[in-house]
Amino acid sequence: MGIPLMDIRAQYAPLREQLDAAIAAVLDSGRFILGPQVSGIEADVSTRLAGRPCVGVANGTDALVIALQALGVGPGDEVITTPYTFYATAEAVARLGATPVFADVEPVGACLDPALIEERITERTKAIIPVHIFGHPAPMTDILTTAAENGLQVIEDAAQAFGAADGEWAVGTMGDAATFSFFPTKNFPGIGDGGLVAARDADLAHRIRRLRFHGSDDKATFLEVGYNSRLDELQAAAIRVFLPEVDGWNDRRRQVAAWYREAGLGQHVTLPEERGGVHHIYHLYMVRHPERDRLRDLLVEDDVSAVVYYGIPMHLQPVFGHLGYAQGDMPVAEEWARTGLALPMHPNLTREQVDEVVAAVGRAVSRI
Ligand SMILES: *Cc1c(COP(=O)(O)O)cnc(C)c1O
Repeated sequence: MGIPLMDIRAQYAPLREQLDAAIAAVLDSGRFILGPQVSGIEADVSTRLAGRPCVGVANGTDALVIALQALGVGPGDEVITTPYTFYATAEAVARLGATPVFADVEPVGACLDPALIEERITERTKAIIPVHIFGHPAPMTDILTTAAENGLQVIEDAAQAFGAADGEWAVGTMGDAATFSFFPTKNFPGIGDGGLVAARDADLAHRIRRLRFHGSDDKATFLEVGYNSRLDELQAAAIRVFLPEVDGWNDRRRQVAAWYREAGLGQHVTLPEERGGVHHIYHLYMVRHPERDRLRDLLVEDDVSAVVYYGIPMHLQPVFGHLGYAQGDMPVAEEWARTGLALPMHPNLTREQVDEVVAAVGRAVSRI
């Protein structure tokens, strides 16, 4: 059997009838593009995000590209971001002809370090993209202060963190814009590709809406070069079934993290930490060990899945070679990339399975 990293089918099983009904209703309606399901999920998510206007798009990558373009980022601009993220964060910047400028991460949550942003700012800098990596909120208060002092826009990449919060502030309500992904393995999933942008105000949301439909407000007059990037009705209907479940799923993820700690996992590996006052939702459960690759191989042999995420940080990726970064430039991100390992984390994990994982990690570590 083994213990999987995630278990999407188990997560969806209790909702199967609701999903079937939601999908059938869309089929019966004959409306597949920009109909009531998309406007419905936009309104539902907006309610969860302090009333911020929301716009559904085709995926989380397009959400970033479109949000950046709507905020005026283009060729020649620079955008400061973290090297320790999924590639799409930096790719979106480069897609627009702008340059991603990497600043190292802080050691607690592995999110963009606010103390290192200022030194990266030039007259070309337009925006900052903090990523709430693994579901841990980035240190937004300090990032927003630096942004305000320097006239920069902030885009929260919240693809891994729906429902997370920093004190009173929900992730997705703090920046000028925030982007989400409904990729099926995210903590707020869909049943295919999907994404969403939450905007600071109606004007920005309007621009995003226009960009997702070929740069047109009325489908007849074309005002700018945009995209065909829409969340579709079937996807939106499924996501509406999942939305009421997300907080419960997040709570169970937090419970699993607490179990890992109680069961003594910290005797074998470095556990993920939470900055004071944050609500971490453990999209991934990342532990660290100096012999990470060996640990992974031993766990997999023992039928416990363990996966390396972001083993090559963005500043060392071939695609960004021309930017001239070198090994050693981002020591904290490089250390996470070298030692970080995702262990099983999903809402259906049981206490027994957690104990099995901890025992397997103990056995593996004793053999390293
Ligand atoms: C998944 C992810 C994205 C991209 O989302 P897609 O829907 O797969 O395009 C962007 N940023 C981060 C941090 C992600 O985890």
